Amino acid sequence: PESITVQELANRMAVRGADVIKCLMRLGVMASINQNIDADTAELVVTEFGHNMKRVSEADVLVGLEGDVDTDENLISRPPVVTIMGHVDHGKTSLLDALRETDVVSGEAGGITQHIGAYQVTMSTGGKITFIDTPGHEAFTAMRARGAKVTDIVVLVVAADDGIMPQTVEAIRHARAAQVPIIVAINKIDKPEANSNKVRQELLQHELVTEDLGGDVLAIEVSAKKRLNLEKLEEAILLQAEILDLKANPERVGQGVVIEAKMEKGRGSVATVLVQKGTLKVGDVFVAGAEWGRVRALVDDHGASIKEAGPSTPVEVLGLQGTPSAGDDFIAVEDEARAREIAGYRQRMDREAKAKLEQRGTLEEMFTAI
Ligand code: GDP
Ligand code: MG
Repeated sequence: PESITVQELANRMAVRGADVIKCLMRLGVMASINQNIDADTAELVVTEFGHNMKRVSEADVLVGLEGDVDTDENLISRPPVVTIMGHVDHGKTSLLDALRETDVVSGEAGGITQHIGAYQVTMSTGGKITFIDTPGHEAFTAMRARGAKVTDIVVLVVAADDGIMPQTVEAIRHARAAQVPIIVAINKIDKPEANSNKVRQELLQHELVTEDLGGDVLAIEVSAKKRLNLEKLEEAILLQAEILDLKANPERVGQGVVIEAKMEKGRGSVATVLVQKGTLKVGDVFVAGAEWGRVRALVDDHGASIKEAGPSTPVEVLGLQGTPSAGDDFIAVEDEARAREIAGYRQRMDREAKAKLEQRGTLEEMFTAI
């Protein structure tokens, strides 16, 4: 029987995943964002949205663009997207910097790196890995709260001289909740007081059983400072990616998630997006959260202007009319009218939600006053 994930259904309708989940709840169906629902339920949801948002349904956003179907032939391997997490001072930033320098392409291009919130490393073997450059559990949870699944793999940094600390445990919890596999980078092994066996034992207590202890968790001893075993860590990431069998169809319209967005003097609203499916091209009209725009320019993590960006590529997008939020979804649509319509609809929904919240606020104030 045919089925579709809640996320995919939301994408097809160009509405938020959370709104679809709410709609499903009204229909008595409890489903999470990555869960499959059957075609009948999906149809119900679609009609629900049709009733509730007349304009959008007239405009027929419900029907995916022609050719936007994933088949065995058009699904091809894509690079893994990695987030680095761990306790403060265990070396997240140092490791991100060190890994960035392993990129063979930036060497050729003269080593200019742009900090756009994410970067891609091309290894000497040709393998590619995308790193989200905004470590921190808040960014991770904020994005997840918006229904965005950005990360394929979490690299958990644990300093070998310090061991598992509260934020390490928190990171493990986040990764588990998001059902993202963990690779452990035991960092600072250059330090004389480093004790990686102790780290492995502590990991055991959190049900992370490393390979040498008979489990399947990959743990690599590294030093971000002395640039030790970085390739080994990257190979472990690619191995994990292979197990995950990550694939995407580059032949459909570009869609993905906003990693960060800001107003910049002289450039307007600039968003770094991670393309997850399809290919985003200069000239494309798109919706990002409750904002829309037309891609005026695409800038990669080396500061180079590019014409298009495929799956797992982080890219800066110029041409937005407003500034979306981190974690907002991003999708190219057929034309400006459609883009305005969807953005307008979402802005109205946001305003209504806000008004409701404020109303509730005043009610609560009334009750506490009593
Ligand atoms: P973050 O808070 O997790 O981002 O940690 P940082 O990357 O800022 O690193 C915290 C401190 O640990 C800094 O003083 C780094 O220089 C140091 N550090 C990071 N990695 C290593 C390492 O591999 N070896 C040693 N000896 N020090 C490191
Ligand atoms: Mg840091």
